[in-house]
Amino acid sequence: MTTIPANLQAVNQRIAAACAAAGRAREAVALLAVSKTFPAACVRAAAAAGQRAFGESYVQEALPKFAALADLGLEWHFIGPLQSNKTRPVAEGCAWVHSVERLKVAERLAAQRPPQLPPLNVCVQVNVSGEASKSGCAPAEAAALCRAVAALPGLRLRGLMAVPEPSEDMALVRRRFAALRALRDELNAQGLGLDTLSMGMSHDLEAAIMEGATIVRVGTAIFGERHYAT
Ligand SMILES: *Cc1c(COP(=O)(O)O)cnc(C)c1O
Repeated sequence: MTTIPANLQAVNQRIAAACAAAGRAREAVALLAVSKTFPAACVRAAAAAGQRAFGESYVQEALPKFAALADLGLEWHFIGPLQSNKTRPVAEGCAWVHSVERLKVAERLAAQRPPQLPPLNVCVQVNVSGEASKSGCAPAEAAALCRAVAALPGLRLRGLMAVPEPSEDMALVRRRFAALRALRDELNAQGLGLDTLSMGMSHDLEAAIMEGATIVRVGTAIFGERHYAT
């Protein structure tokens, strides 16, 4: 846990260097610290070092952390697969959901978003990897899903998210990110006004920033290797 502030600093330096290399402003890219599988104390250590936005992937795991860290006023992002019977705590406790891939889930989030809160920021997750991946809507379905989500009250459609298939081939990964960016541009040409591209993780954030990422989701490089309880 003592390495978290140094790791955070290193990740922020990588982001700054990638922004410089891409000719983009540092402020154009936000860091989401992905804290899944790590205890609340690790989030607290990152928050003490200045990090405000944290991502979680599992509702069951996230709820006790939201409660344990409520005093910090952190910004929580849900980034994992979301079943329609588990949307309520996410609608109530998060500022963002990156992983909307079905209209039914978006409808439930919209209905369950407390009216006194600002709209829930939403990204539609797109499968840019074809048969190599199962999560995300097909690129051909993204326009219709985005339009339907944008029409829901209580939600604010912000953009697109993708998790390319794991690969050491950075040229391939970069093509996947480029595909998401091209889709965003196409949807914006149709009038959607998407300002967010959520893409890039610990091993490929530089490629994502080169292709226009506005949020990079980084876990391992901040908190260390994950050990899943089985
Ligand atoms: C776990 C996870 C991340 C973080 O991945 P790292 O390789 O640990 O940086 C990012 N995005 C999603 C959707 C995740 O599930």
